[in-house]
Amino acid sequence: MAFKSEYLAKVYASVEKRNPGEAEFLQAVKEVLTSLEPVVAARPDLVKAGVIDRIVEPERFIQFRVSWVDDNGNVQVNRGFRAQFNSAIGPYKGGLRLHPSVCASVIKFLGFEQIFKNSLTGLPMGGGKGGSDFDPKGKSDGEIMRFCQSFMTELCKHIGADTDVPAGDIGVGGREIGFMFGQYKRLRNEFTGVLTGKGLTYGGSLARTEATGYGLCYFTSEMLKCMKNESFKGKTVVISGSGNVAIYATQKATELGGKVVALSDSNGYIYDKNGINLDVVKQIKEVERARISEYAKRVPGSEYHEGCRGIWSIKCDIALPCATQNELNGDEAQMLVKNGVIAVAEGANMPSTPEAVEVFQKNGVMFGPAKAANAGGVATSGLEMSQNSIRYSWTFEEVDKKLNDIMVNIFHSSYDASKKFGSEGDLVMGANIAGFLKVADAMLAQGI
Ligand code: GLU
Repeated sequence: MAFKSEYLAKVYASVEKRNPGEAEFLQAVKEVLTSLEPVVAARPDLVKAGVIDRIVEPERFIQFRVSWVDDNGNVQVNRGFRAQFNSAIGPYKGGLRLHPSVCASVIKFLGFEQIFKNSLTGLPMGGGKGGSDFDPKGKSDGEIMRFCQSFMTELCKHIGADTDVPAGDIGVGGREIGFMFGQYKRLRNEFTGVLTGKGLTYGGSLARTEATGYGLCYFTSEMLKCMKNESFKGKTVVISGSGNVAIYATQKATELGGKVVALSDSNGYIYDKNGINLDVVKQIKEVERARISEYAKRVPGSEYHEGCRGIWSIKCDIALPCATQNELNGDEAQMLVKNGVIAVAEGANMPSTPEAVEVFQKNGVMFGPAKAANAGGVATSGLEMSQNSIRYSWTFEEVDKKLNDIMVNIFHSSYDASKKFGSEGDLVMGANIAGFLKVADAMLAQGI
């Protein structure tokens, strides 16, 4: 994919040079820059001010050692990161990921995506991301606590309620946020909204846990309605993953009339032609923290298959990839198209490879890119920040209604931008442009 604009080609070449071998980051940058071709033509003022040259470079990138003691008394060392990517429209905001695949490239790609995603929500949040290559799988509560405390001992020097507000991502849920919040408070003697995704007893927001999955379905509903006069009703839905995003997407898709027939984890996938029983999944994943294969042992008539990628061979109308980056490739996209998929919306960050996106778009499949479709999580984090600032809590219904409105708005601003910039219905381009323009104008106003 060559750039038409010489300027964009030059910007991309410099990103490649500065971040050698960082495949995920380069993939995310290439996609956004490609979308910006019509903006470069229409907005010479942004080019002159070097806005695009600047936006691809994190304002700050922090890497640190995290040492902790395991249950056998052995010292373990992990690497921690925080990318403070862009603060033009608000304090840095974005999750923390704990997974062995975490490295500079992954954190930069996530932080970069977060700039545009957060901008699309309409709330005042800049873009950031962090995490560690620590693997929470199989660790005891005590080990998780000691890791989180050590991680926060360093991270607390760089964050704050008006500076940078982390939250959860893969491997970081309520338990981890609680341990990190406790450590921040101990070290800084400050009870502030420095993290989101907090427990309800100490400043968390109702509906934050459900928000990414619910928001994904609200976005998908609006996309189905406005682009093809369709809905979830009577549709077969395949959802990859079985973490927080997948679980609450399953719940909302089912409530909206869809039948979710499959979920997965990194080892394999389950297929239940009668529709997934979410109580069983929640017991396995949230209470026992066990593998999804357990489901097939407990629910008669369901099947477990080794290997997570096989999930894309299941016939469905709607596919919601909610596991991790690059989990759906071009061949798998072809398979979904052959089996009649009409819509794909991304609950994970960058789950579809560029080849997969091309297959969907060329075959007229409605496609909701991550930074638009999964923005409900961070949007509700933004609402948690608002509630913390006014020292008040809204009801579940109030937060859920705001979330729904935000997701509907995100669809429309992405769709409108795709129309305005000459690619009606290309929501990848629309979301990138709509998210970019707000940040770019703020950067322009704030000088170099
Ligand atoms: N990790 C989520 C995301 O990718 C949420 C981040 C947040 O709530 O700050 O957007």
